Amino acid sequence: MSSESAVSTSPLNAPSLNTSLLNIGIAGGGLLGRLCAWRLARAGYSVTVFEAETFEQPRGACWTAAGMISPLSELVHSPREVYDKGLQSLAIWPRWLKQLEETQHQTMHFRHAGSLVVAHPQDQAELEQFYLDLKHKLANEEANGRPGLEELVDPLNHIGIRTLEPALSHFDHALFLKPEGDLNNRRILHGLLADLKRLNVTLVPKTKVRCEPNLIIDDQEQTHRFDLVLDTRGLGAKPQLEGLRGVRGEVLNVESHDVVLNRPIRLMHPRYKLYVAPKPNNHFVIGATEIESSDMSPMSVQSCLELSSALYTVHPAFAEARIVEQSVNCRPAMLDNLPVVNVEDGLIQANGLYRHGYLLSPVVVNQVLAEIDPALVD
Ligand SMILES: Cc1cc2nc3c(=O)[nH]c(=O)nc-3n(C[C@H](O)[C@H](O)[C@H](O)COP(=O)(O)OP(=O)(O)OC[C@H]3O[C@@H](n4cnc5c(N)ncnc54)[C@H](O)[C@@H]3O)c2cc1C
Repeated sequence: MSSESAVSTSPLNAPSLNTSLLNIGIAGGGLLGRLCAWRLARAGYSVTVFEAETFEQPRGACWTAAGMISPLSELVHSPREVYDKGLQSLAIWPRWLKQLEETQHQTMHFRHAGSLVVAHPQDQAELEQFYLDLKHKLANEEANGRPGLEELVDPLNHIGIRTLEPALSHFDHALFLKPEGDLNNRRILHGLLADLKRLNVTLVPKTKVRCEPNLIIDDQEQTHRFDLVLDTRGLGAKPQLEGLRGVRGEVLNVESHDVVLNRPIRLMHPRYKLYVAPKPNNHFVIGATEIESSDMSPMSVQSCLELSSALYTVHPAFAEARIVEQSVNCRPAMLDNLPVVNVEDGLIQANGLYRHGYLLSPVVVNQVLAEIDPALVD
């Protein structure tokens, strides 16, 4: 691993597990587990996935997530590596989803249409500061032959906003973050599941497991032996992964036939930052709180009030939106909020995707695959 990677590998310089067509056991059928299983099964490996809940509606963070792929938005608050790896993932997703669409004969709703950052007139300073932060972080890009601020970010007045997002023409200023994308995460999780079945992956639902090198031990204390075990249990790996913590996130899923948005929107606000991620069928994911806690209990009244009040200020027609779901989950995070891939003989732990699961998973999955056989990396 190069030192510039967002993904830390421990122990460093672990030997590659380059063995042909291993029998692989995967603990956790969330985002990482599914993607790893899919890439491996496509390459002809024999794969078994153990999932604590059902595969149809996993309880992992992957199901709750908004599915935004936001390297620029994340650059302001995250280490530089998240941006670099996020851009790499943005290039991988369309390729992988095309493969999935070809076998599943349906669109996976990947959208590469940028995102819009808006602020109310009294909060313009927030928008300006966001722009200045990006300017600072991207200061040397052009000198290094990479796209700079001007190529990546368009400051818009209300005419520019009306052209891109007519529903938001009441805002005077916005930033258009051009490289960002988003995807329909639940559609993709279902698509991956269908493809795992097509590829004869053994799926073991409702089975809580723990991992040891070459072994997956289920909740009946039955031991399942594999050539290699991948531990992708997200927060479920906490007892076995030192430093892993949960960061609670609450989202509302609303339905509105009165507001049309073409891309994710972020509202800058001194207290109530908010995103609105449009989904098919007039649904919108509204989020998200970020609370240092592994508490998975239902959404608090305060969070519901703050999210819905801020949503109402994005567009008053959201007042009549119907709340179709309130969802709570915990982002699996390490202390530095960066992913970790730990490699030892017979066991690879991949975890800590924090709020960057969709942003970074293709790169992290490729790193896991590289440990098995570099030829698997795509
Ligand atoms: C509110 C919210 C919004 C988010 N929005 C975004 C976003 O817009 N963009 C983005 O990039 N990321 C987002 N994320 C982050 C993203 O969802 C996570 O980073 C990602 O899901 C982590 O993937 P994972 O596979 O490691 O864990 P998970 O997706 O949590 O999957 C872990 C799986 O392991 C299973 N499991 C747990 N314990 C066991 C056990 N003992 N035995 C068997 N199975 C077990 C779980 O049931 C689960 O299915 C968001 C997260 C939250 C909570």
